[in-house]
Amino acid sequence: MASHHNDLKASILDYLQDHSGVTKKKVAEFTDYSIPTVTKAVEKLLQQGLIRKRGLKDTSVGRKPSIYEFEGSNYFLIGIDLSIPKFNIALFDLSKRLVASKSSFLNMEKVQKDSCPDISSELIEGIKSLVNREKVPFSKLKAIGLGAPGIVREGSFKPFTRFDTDEMVPLQTPIQNEFEIPVFVKNDVDSELLSLLDEEDLLDIPDLVAVYLAVRSSGGYQSRVNIGGSIYHNGNILQGKNGSAGEFGHTSVDISSEDKFTPCKCGNNICLDKFVNSKIENYSESEKAVEEITQRLNQKIADLFFLFNPTLLVIDMEAFPEIKSNLIQRAKTFSSELAKELCIKEISIETVENSSMACARGSIITQLNEMLCEPQSYDKFFSD
Ligand SMILES: [Zn+2]
Repeated sequence: MASHHNDLKASILDYLQDHSGVTKKKVAEFTDYSIPTVTKAVEKLLQQGLIRKRGLKDTSVGRKPSIYEFEGSNYFLIGIDLSIPKFNIALFDLSKRLVASKSSFLNMEKVQKDSCPDISSELIEGIKSLVNREKVPFSKLKAIGLGAPGIVREGSFKPFTRFDTDEMVPLQTPIQNEFEIPVFVKNDVDSELLSLLDEEDLLDIPDLVAVYLAVRSSGGYQSRVNIGGSIYHNGNILQGKNGSAGEFGHTSVDISSEDKFTPCKCGNNICLDKFVNSKIENYSESEKAVEEITQRLNQKIADLFFLFNPTLLVIDMEAFPEIKSNLIQRAKTFSSELAKELCIKEISIETVENSSMACARGSIITQLNEMLCEPQSYDKFFSD
């Protein structure tokens, strides 16, 4: 028999995301299906391990009906933070619980040698080894999400820094071909913003404008500072025509006449990314260099207020712990003074303490919400 009433099954899963339990009668009421049809759908979901029986509803008269709740621990998604050279692979269940993770390093010698490096093979190996280590059957793996740096478009990416490549590097197609499940690629900072908004339950707030500025150290040998950003508006990440919207690191800063920089690959010779990394390279972390960097970052943060007038501004200053609290404090003061001056509402400013799993987690959020809340997606992930 063909699969029936997938919209009903999806509605039940959707309902259970926001409610702690439901009886069949209640499902019949809000979906307008008959009790026998609901019973069949509930049995199928139980059999698939997507819901479980929690107990009996306490009623004063008659037979006590069963209460069902969402079961998130039987299927999994992989989220990957491709930060280059390091990458983190994380296994999440349908409740967004982190089950296990593993980090590795790409073979950079090989990556830098090829004109279009094969990065997906190393990721595929990493996924297999994590899934095998956790003894999860591959049939229980439902989707894979990736957060990659730089420009991300149609499942491929091209970083501004880290390695040279003439072409967009494919990630989605090779990984999808290997595992035969849906694979999605997003920008890494976009993924982090999605994770944060999801955790704070802000994803569905209409008209929400959230902006994320990430200033991070790549760590390891020949560490550099990577500056990225993300813009969220009205339920979506703003990608722009080519996927480069929100790359605040490649917007201009003012420089003094003594400053000489080699051009940045973005095409902007005086971008924030180039400025910060040249200062660190040439003057290490001398007081003057730190002061100049702080000044440019303050300037950039102030620009974001006027460019986006965000509801929420997230400032991640992991690369500069010594100036972090100063910058945040200054941004808060700026926000409240601006509010007074212009008679507008204050902008909320947040910072992130530990973002190590945020990218991996954020890379699967959209798929997970689609998987569990959209009727047309049910077949794609849980065909009968
Ligand atoms: Zn640049």
